[in-house]
Amino acid sequence: MRSDEDALVELARDRLSKGRLPVGSPQRIWGGPGNGAVCALCEQVVTRLDIEFEVEFEVQFALAAPGSRTLHFHRRCHAIWDAERRPRFDRALHLRVSRGA
Ligand SMILES: [Zn+2]
Repeated sequence: MRSDEDALVELARDRLSKGRLPVGSPQRIWGGPGNGAVCALCEQVVTRLDIEFEVEFEVQFALAAPGSRTLHFHRRCHAIWDAERRPRFDRALHLRVSRGA
C-alpha cells in the first residue's frame, strides 16, 4: 500500500514539473504554529496544532500567479517540496552555466 508520504512526493513532482510549485530557493523561511493558511502542497489547512513553514521568494523564483511570492506549507510538506525541488534547481543552474548565459 502506498503511504501518504508517497502520494505527497508524487504530487510535489507533478507540481514542480508543471510549474505550479517553485523550484528556486526561498529568500526567507519562517516556522511557527499554523494560522489557518492553506498548504501549497497538500491543499489542507495548516491548523494551530501543526507547524507551518512560510516561505518567501524573490520575484524571479516565484510563480507567476499573484500573491504567490509567499507560500505556506505543513512542516512535512515543506520537507518533501524542498527535497524534490533542490535537484531540479541544481540542474537548472547547471544548464544555465553550461550554456554560458
Ligand atoms: Zn501540507
